[in-house]
Amino acid sequence: MSSSALISNIQGYSIHDGPGIRTTVFLKGCPLRCKWCANPENLTDSVRVGFVANNCKGCGHCAEACPEGAIIPGEVRRIDRTRCTSCCACVEACYYGALVRYGEEMSVEQVFDKVRRDKMFYDTSGGGVTVSGGEPLVHADFVAELFRLCKDEGIGTCVETCGCVARSALEKVLPLTDVFYYDLKIPDGAKHREYTGQSNELILANARFLTESGAKMLFRQPLIPGVNSSEEDVRATAEFIRSLNRPDIALQLMPYHRMGTAKYAALDEEYSLEALEIMPGEEVETIRALYESLGVLCSVSK
Ligand code: SF4
Ligand code: SF4
Ligand code: SF4
Repeated sequence: MSSSALISNIQGYSIHDGPGIRTTVFLKGCPLRCKWCANPENLTDSVRVGFVANNCKGCGHCAEACPEGAIIPGEVRRIDRTRCTSCCACVEACYYGALVRYGEEMSVEQVFDKVRRDKMFYDTSGGGVTVSGGEPLVHADFVAELFRLCKDEGIGTCVETCGCVARSALEKVLPLTDVFYYDLKIPDGAKHREYTGQSNELILANARFLTESGAKMLFRQPLIPGVNSSEEDVRATAEFIRSLNRPDIALQLMPYHRMGTAKYAALDEEYSLEALEIMPGEEVETIRALYESLGVLCSVSK
């Protein structure tokens, strides 16, 4: 029997998640808890329900549908999370899109069926499928099965990973992956733990493993003001990248943004970086230029 996994979204015509035009498959579950995470709905490997207050018309159908009495009518925090079982009966009952389900159990075949529909676009653009998340390699068997089907059909493959995964997970997908987009978040181990919940030791070791294996890669760094943006941070990251002896692997900076904040509100969770200022473009450019001066090919994501 083929694997299945909880998928939160399958996004077609994606142009930032790998070469060419891609379909990005978002899998749920992640070992990290980055404070800037823009996809909080993907952190747990379980179905979540969000409430988008702006869409609510106050019709009351959700409360009637809930078997657990977990809907609190009129409240901004509409769902009593201590009672909610994520059955999603309320989502089905809401005609206005105010209740949202995050996570759908899908088989490899179901996902592949959606992915293959855009093969024509992959062929003309050098694109393919990208798995993202969360951390897609939490579901390494699923990804390997999906990629095997893609390879059989001539569809390109890309993994976006935080690298905080078992070596065996990387080994499973390595022969089937055209390119890895690999996050290097914070060079200092203690700060990495403070801002992501985990040390960076395994991440750095896995980066070394992948580079030594000859994998095609792009390093990516979320650029978080005051967290990994100092000259000392840049020099430490550049030193690590240079130590890998793969000058062909570039670093892409992803400047901090607040696009995930609405999802935190929908999930009744706090967004701890609310007060953080967006970094001006000139400062981003200064950091990019510093990386280049330190011998690292560096670009800024659009
Ligand atoms: S069913 Fe939807 S629109 Fe109606 S009260 Fe519930 S959340 Fe609001
Ligand atoms: S997901 Fe199910 S249990 Fe939770 S609030 Fe909605 S209907 Fe109630
Ligand atoms: S690794 Fe990515 S998905 Fe996981 S917490 Fe960090 S930003 Fe979010």
